[in-house]
Amino acid sequence: MAAKADRPQVRYESPAPKVARIVLDRPEKRNAQGTLMTYQLDAAMQRACRDDAVSVIILAAEGDHFSAGHDLSMSEPPAAGPEQRVTLWDQYEGPGWEGFYAREREVYLEITERWRNAPKPVVAAVQGSVVSGGLMLMWMADIIVAAEDARFRDNTGSDMGVPGVEFFNHPFELGVRRAKQFLFTGGWLSAHAAAAAGMVNEVVPRDRLQDRALALAEEIARTDRFTLKLIKDSLNAAQDAMGRRQAMQGAFANHQIGHLQNMLLHGFPIDITRLPESVRRHLEAALAARKAGDGG
Ligand code: ZN
Repeated sequence: MAAKADRPQVRYESPAPKVARIVLDRPEKRNAQGTLMTYQLDAAMQRACRDDAVSVIILAAEGDHFSAGHDLSMSEPPAAGPEQRVTLWDQYEGPGWEGFYAREREVYLEITERWRNAPKPVVAAVQGSVVSGGLMLMWMADIIVAAEDARFRDNTGSDMGVPGVEFFNHPFELGVRRAKQFLFTGGWLSAHAAAAAGMVNEVVPRDRLQDRALALAEEIARTDRFTLKLIKDSLNAAQDAMGRRQAMQGAFANHQIGHLQNMLLHGFPIDITRLPESVRRHLEAALAARKAGDGG
């Protein structure tokens, strides 16, 4: 089960003075986010934040789709090596629910929270489908520019028996009532509907997406770098004062209950009975192989 670690899944570019561009570069898998992409993205964010010459970060994606969400293929190691880990909650091989909980807490909840709290403004440029875990990647950005063909859904509830993705920002992105419909149905939200709800700043033609994101980043970069940090921190603090962080902790606990319910009913952390037969067979085989191996 060797992972294809040869080709980077994240590119780092410098398209203009003071602007860094981080590109999800796994288009053959619709930019599904596995362990390799997660930690390459983390390294790119650290690089951009630590570079004094960078004021603004663009987050873009190669291919027709921004991200299909978390990579459920189990084809990569479940966690980064110890040298890449930031958290002290890293008992990923712990017994019972400890390992699963520790991993989800770090690689989905806390790492996304750190990116959201990156001191420099992040402009996301999104196109095509943005599904479930892909929303978390997009939501960590401060400003979102969407192509007209962008569409959004979180089907973890409707198709997998888990009550929404780990970084539970839905009510703060969409408002509570829209978030309920979004999660109850798992249905698609169009780019224009997302803009109307306040989740997206601008909708532009697909062929103008990258140019518009860059122009916006350059405009922002004209503001003093440290002042930008103070503005971002103040606005994030305002959102946190509205209860975002505490609400997210509660939702994460419910998310774990959802996973545990699926373990009890289906022997798997998600409800695989609703997934296509071929996907279900693949996951069952991968799980059996992992159990038969070293347990990692
Ligand atoms: Zn989960």
